[in-house]
Formats: sequence, C-alpha cells, structure tokens
Amino acid sequence: MRKLPGRLVLLGHPVAHSLSPRFQNAALRAADIPLVYEAIDVPPQSLRRTLAELAEIDAIGNVTIPHKEDVAACCHRLLPLAQRCGAVNTFWHEDGQLVGDNTDVGGVDAIATLLLGEARHGATVTLLGAGGSAAAVVAAVERWGDARVRLYNRNVDRARLLAARFGPVVDVVDSVEEALEGAALVVNATPVGLKDDAFPVPVGALPGGAAVFDLVYRANETAWVRAAREAGHRAADGEGMLVEQGALSFERWFGVVPDRGAMWRALH
Ligand code: NAP
Repeated sequence: MRKLPGRLVLLGHPVAHSLSPRFQNAALRAADIPLVYEAIDVPPQSLRRTLAELAEIDAIGNVTIPHKEDVAACCHRLLPLAQRCGAVNTFWHEDGQLVGDNTDVGGVDAIATLLLGEARHGATVTLLGAGGSAAAVVAAVERWGDARVRLYNRNVDRARLLAARFGPVVDVVDSVEEALEGAALVVNATPVGLKDDAFPVPVGALPGGAAVFDLVYRANETAWVRAAREAGHRAADGEGMLVEQGALSFERWFGVVPDRGAMWRALH
C-alpha cells in the first residue's frame, strides 16, 4: 500500500453527497486503514483553491456533481477513461501532480456484464440522457466489440455533443421510440425517478427480452426497476454501480482490493 494520504474526501455539492461515506468507511475499517472518508461541500468558485490545499497534504478522493469535468480540466495527468469521458471521479497525487481517473465506467461495465453477460458484445444499447454519467455509459459500451448506442436526450444539441466526443459508436435519435428499436439493454442516465416514481420510458414500450439498467438509486430500488422486473425483464438500479465505482476507486488509492461484502452491508 502507498504512504497514507493526508485526507480522503468526496468533493461535491451537498445534494449530491451520496451513500459513499457509509460504504467507503466500512471498506477502510475492514482493511484496517486509519483514514476517514469525508464528504466536503465545495462551491464551484472554491474548487481550484480547495484542490491546491488538498495537493499540499497529498490528499486523495472522489468527485461528484458538479465538479467532474472541472477537476478533469485541473489534472496534470488523466488516465485513459477519464480522458475519454472528459470527467474525473477519482483523484490522487503523484510527486505533487494531480492525477485523475474515471471509475464510473468500470461501475457501468460491471452491472451491464451482470445483466447481459457475453450478449453485451454486439448489443444495441438505448441510452436516455447525455450528461456526465451518459458519457461513462458510452465509454463502457465502446469497449464491447460491435456494440452500439442509440442515444435520446430531450436537448438534442447536448446529445450531439456527446456523440461527437465518441464518434460512430453513438447514433443520436429524435424520439424515445426510435431509441428503443432492437435494444438488448435500456439505460436511464437521467434523474427521472430520483425524487418520485416517474418512469423514463413506459415498461410496456420496452423491447421483449431487453434488460433494464437505471443509474438512479433509491431505498428499495426505483419504481421503474421494480415494474420492469415484474414484467419479466432483468433489471438493476444504480446502487450496484455506485458500490463498484467506489470499490475501483479504493483499489486505485490503496493498491488493495476492498471488502465488497462489507461495503454492501454498510448500505443495508
Ligand atoms: P447530468 O450531467 O446533470 O445529466 C442529466 C441528463 O438527464 C441530461 O441529459 C438531462 O437532459 C437529462 N434530464 C434531466 N432531467 C430530465 C427530465 N426531467 N426528463 C428527461 N431528461 C432529463 O447528470 P448525470 O451526472 O449524468 O447523472 C444523471 C443521473 O444518474 C443522476 O441523477 C444520478 O441519479 C444517476 N447517477 C448514478 C450514478 C451511480 O453510481 N449509480 C453515478 C452518476 C449518476 P438535458 O440535457 O435536456 O438537460
């Protein structure tokens, strides 16, 4: 394991402070690492000053809404997936230099693999939303041979920007119905269903046999995931992705595999 960092933090906006402190602190205890994972509120205007202070104490951490792109812009070195997404969710320092990675991609990949297995190779993936987490979905899909993304976003210009970053793996379409054509996996990367039981698309519109992956997570899953499963679709909400991206961050920071069981137990 590397030398202990001065601090382990989640940089974000208060409403975005997720369940991460619970399961990261459980992983730290299980690994006997004497650090506490703390969420800190960082308004955008204070981000650069905060990063400079964290560099002085050789801090490590995660990044969440709304700072992922800005931290990427501040890094001296980006690992390939952070470069691909233009967003950083995991950082550390090497010789005083800020290094950024993106473990959201690995989190998406792990859950999609559970849902689709080998069928992800060559799969058509419907993607709803074109923000930061949608970029992580595309970066995961482009590593599956011959898989394609049909992308629908209510703001088509934002969808086109995301597609331009990734190239021909993404087709931007004009309606949800077009996006769903031939899908083996339907991914919700919008906040629809976060605060209420709204569905990003009606369950009756899902192609037969399509799996459902809702990046949103709530206590007892989202209503969309529950309804899709009741209708016979394989389905997962965002909790698995959240824990997996956190586990991958832990590996980057400490060079050891965390106790994923302890992380799960901390949430339930
Ligand atoms: P973001 O960058 O703000 O992007 C949000 C996207 O959702 C945009 O494309 C936006 O469309 C669209 N959108 C927002 N409200 C909508 C609505 N009412 N109807 C239709 N589309 C809507 O957010 P993000 O970082 O990608 O995160 C999206 C969601 O993913 C979050 O709410 C969170 O629940 C989830 N998430 C989960 C994990 C995890 O580990 N499980 C990680 C990251 C995010 P416009 O461009 O038209 O505004």
